[in-house]
Amino acid sequence: MGEIDAQGHEWRTGLRYPWLQPPANGEVEEVAPGVLWLRMPLPFALDHINLYLLRHEDGWVVVDTGLNNAETRTIWEQVLPQACEGLPLRAVICTHYHSDHAGVLGWLSERFRCPVFMTASEFQWMHLGAPRDPRPSWALRDFYQKAGFSSNHAEALLPLLQASHFRPELPTSFERLREGSRLNIGGRCWQVVVGRGHSPEHACLYCEEDGLLISGDQVLPRITSTVSVHVTEPNANPLRDWLQSIERLRELPDSVLVLPAHERPFFNLHRRLEQLQAHHQAHLQTLQAACLAPRSARELMTELFPRAKGRFDELMALGETLAHANYLIAEGALVRETDGGVHRYQCAGSAELICNQLLEF
Ligand SMILES: [Zn+2]
Repeated sequence: MGEIDAQGHEWRTGLRYPWLQPPANGEVEEVAPGVLWLRMPLPFALDHINLYLLRHEDGWVVVDTGLNNAETRTIWEQVLPQACEGLPLRAVICTHYHSDHAGVLGWLSERFRCPVFMTASEFQWMHLGAPRDPRPSWALRDFYQKAGFSSNHAEALLPLLQASHFRPELPTSFERLREGSRLNIGGRCWQVVVGRGHSPEHACLYCEEDGLLISGDQVLPRITSTVSVHVTEPNANPLRDWLQSIERLRELPDSVLVLPAHERPFFNLHRRLEQLQAHHQAHLQTLQAACLAPRSARELMTELFPRAKGRFDELMALGETLAHANYLIAEGALVRETDGGVHRYQCAGSAELICNQLLEF
């Protein structure tokens, strides 16, 4: 963590944080007229999420909801009469389907009989959810075996994926957000900017007039959002989507106040986008350097994430490793062969390997 001066400049990163401290859980901070920053706790290493309350006529519009657990509901019971002054929620906007963002969408929507706004892909992925069968599917076993894990690894991971707090309380209908959708909230125009790669169709909200960007998980100031390949689509290329989204976000002015879903609001969007891009470029270079000889995804994972500990860390680390490997395959920089049921990755250029891959198909 870099030194921060009294104006909130962090010298190491070049970002500026106007608020040196976040509000306590359940408390709010006004970050622009009619825009409140609300913190909710999370029971993970990343121990909080930021939600935003937007004043709208005789009530509020909330962006994201917190995790589906008792603590989130308790805090909402405190926030609604206090920070929201007992006024109703008029709509809930969900940036993306991940459970810390979408956890109590259904509960809030039902309670206030208010619509849920989100993109179609996020609504559909939210309803797909984790597999409910306690036995791992063929596809799940296959995914981990090809990555170089033992055949019973999938059994050990499944309960993690199926934890109840990862299951949002689902809304049954939604209002669709698209790239370029415009929402008039309390006299302020918010435009939807879609980002991809961390989730399929993540909605950011941009207010040009006041220079505000509610960025969800698409742009975070200190941590990098996961860009992962999952069993649902083992040959997906989310990193290409993520890097393209960085280019899209670069079209927004550098002067915006970024209101992220984790850590604190900050200035210097473009600097942060450069850092995110550099982070993935460094991973790509590490992976290529490690692939001079054939390597499994599990071996590559330990190169990229040597500090990953425990099964949940491994789950995330493997997904990220595959995202970088799949990107390099699509770019023609790596080739993949199957050896003894395990995928092995190697730098492209070896005629023998390319031949093997052709035979595989
Ligand atoms: Zn997320």
